[in-house]
Amino acid sequence: PMSGLSIRKLFKAYGSVVAVDGIDLEIAEGELVVLLGPSGCGKTTTLRCIAGLEDLSDGSILIGDKVVSEKGRSLPPERREIGMVFQSYAIWPHMTVTENVAFGLKLKKLPKAEIDSKVKAALELVGLTGYSTRHVSQLSGGQQQRVALARAMALEPRILLFDEPLSNLDAKLREKMRFELRQIQQRLGITSVYVTHDQQEAMVIADRIVLMRNGVIEQIGSPVDLYHRPRTRFAAEFVGLANIYPGVAVGDEARLEGGLKLKVDGKQAGNVDVIFRPEHVRVLEKKPDGVNVVKARVKESYFLGNTTDLVLTAAGMDIRAQLSPAKLYGPGSDLWIQIDPESVVLLPRLAEKVATPELATA
Ligand code: ADP
Ligand code: MG
Repeated sequence: PMSGLSIRKLFKAYGSVVAVDGIDLEIAEGELVVLLGPSGCGKTTTLRCIAGLEDLSDGSILIGDKVVSEKGRSLPPERREIGMVFQSYAIWPHMTVTENVAFGLKLKKLPKAEIDSKVKAALELVGLTGYSTRHVSQLSGGQQQRVALARAMALEPRILLFDEPLSNLDAKLREKMRFELRQIQQRLGITSVYVTHDQQEAMVIADRIVLMRNGVIEQIGSPVDLYHRPRTRFAAEFVGLANIYPGVAVGDEARLEGGLKLKVDGKQAGNVDVIFRPEHVRVLEKKPDGVNVVKARVKESYFLGNTTDLVLTAAGMDIRAQLSPAKLYGPGSDLWIQIDPESVVLLPRLAEKVATPELATA
C-alpha cells in the first residue's frame, strides 16, 4: 500500500528528559493507527512532532513521500495538510457552529460559496446538520467534540491527528463516540493517528495499535494480535486482563511457581511468565474430562451484568475467571476449572532491567 505517513528513528528530548527514544513507524494511506500507552510514554510528543508543533532532536517524518520534519528543518503545521482534534475541543464558544467550522476555510480565503458547501458537507458527516446557527455553548460535550471534528475535516486534510479526543466526555457518550469516529474515518479513508491511554478505545478504533512504553514501541499489531499474542508481560497486562504467574517451561508443560502444572501448545524451556486471560478459564460444577483440570474454590464473586468476575483459589493460587453470568457462584462454592492449552501464552522471562541513574552532563 502507498505510504501515508512515515516516522523514521524519531527522537525527541526536552533537556535531559527523553520523551521519544527512537520510533520507527510506517502508516499506510487511509490507515488508522492508535498510539496506546500509559501516561508519560511519549504519545502526545510523537503526535506533536507529526503535526510540526515540535522540532525533532533526531530522525525524520514524511507525509506521503515528502520530508516534513528532520533535525534542524521543519515545515510549519499550517503547510502540512493536517487536521487536529484534541481533548479540549478548542472551539470558540461565542461563535456559531458554522462560524467555528468555517474558521480555517476563511483563513485560506476561499470563495464564500465554496466555504458554505464545505461546511455543509462537514456538518453532515458528523451528524450536525440542522445545528449550523446554534452557538457552540448551547451544545452538549459530544456535539462540541463533533464540531471540532467537522472543523478539522472541512479542510480536507491528508492526515488526521487525534489526542485523547473523547477523554472529556462521560463514559456512556465516550463509548458511543468511539464507533462514530471509527465510521467517519472509514468513510473518509483519511490516514489517521489517534492517541489514547484507553485500551478498549484503542481496540474499537484501530486498524493497528502501536503500544508504547518509556518513549519506545513495545509492540505493534492488530487489536486481535495484541490481545491474543502479546509479546511482553507489559503488553499482556496493558491490553485486557490477564492471569500472569512466574514458572518454568519443561517441554509441553508449564510448571507454575505456585505449584500448578499446565499443558501448553508447543514446546519451550526455561524461565517463563505463564499468561492466560480470565475468560479462558472454564468454570464447571462437575469434573470435566481432558487436560488442565483443577479443583477450585470461589474466593470472591462480582456480578457485572454481562459477566461475572470470580477470584478462585486453585492449587493454592489465586486465579481470575470471567464468565457469562447465567450461573452465580458465591464465595465458598466448590468448582472445577479447565484451561485450554491453546489459550496459555508463555513468555521467556528475562532478568529485570536495572535502571541506571542519568549522568549529569552539566
Ligand atoms: P503521553 O502523551 O504519552 O502522556 P508525553 O508525550 O506528553 O506523554 O510526555 C512524554 C514525556 O516527555 C514525559 O516524561 C513528559 O513529562 C515529557 N515532556 C513532554 N512535554 C514536555 C515539555 N514541553 N518539556 C519537558 N518535558 C516534557
Ligand atoms: Mg498525552
